[in-house]
Amino acid sequence: MPSMSAIGDLTPAPASDTDFQGIAGDAYSEQRMARYEGALCAQSDPEVFFPEKGESSKNAKLICAACPCRDLCLEDALVNDEQHGIWGGLSYPERCRVARGSESPHRQHIA
Ligand code: SF4
Repeated sequence: MPSMSAIGDLTPAPASDTDFQGIAGDAYSEQRMARYEGALCAQSDPEVFFPEKGESSKNAKLICAACPCRDLCLEDALVNDEQHGIWGGLSYPERCRVARGSESPHRQHIA
């Protein structure tokens, strides 16, 4: 389990209404989901974030790199051990390296 301080500021943002229906799903509280306001994947094709084996994840990672929710998203993916898809700009193997502490959560893997 990674150190939360290594991932980013975890100070809760004020709750607000949001229409975000992105990849995070219903498992999160409304307050937590409100923190995803502005998430760029909410405006994108969800399939981009779940490339098939052999497909490029570049487009998803480019979107994530510009997303204001990147740190929160990566934190949630690590805490919930999300094993599929691009979360916080990282693939599952990349997230595993972050969780082991062998890689910075802020390294960009856009190729
Ligand atoms: S970092 Fe990527 S997957 Fe996460 S909320 Fe932002 S756009 Fe969506």
